[in-house]
Amino acid sequence: MPQWVIDYVLLHELAHLLVAGHNAAFWQLLEAYPDTARAKAFLEGVSFATSRGLTPAGDEMGDDDVDDDADSESPDWN
Ligand SMILES: [Zn+2]
Repeated sequence: MPQWVIDYVLLHELAHLLVAGHNAAFWQLLEAYPDTARAKAFLEGVSFATSRGLTPAGDEMGDDDVDDDADSESPDWN
């Protein structure tokens, strides 16, 4: 996963420490991150692809390793 997507996810989760839901106040917190819209679109694409059984190159189907280290052997999304 690209670093700018990981950064967005971290900021998203940190923003939830201040605002529980996805209301206007929540999204206002994320406006400062310039790649918010791009990262959301990227994650929607990943969700679309994985819901159809598609996986990134190097990722095997059925891989249930949920605690992947972002610094190690990330699949090539480019
Ligand atoms: Zn959320």
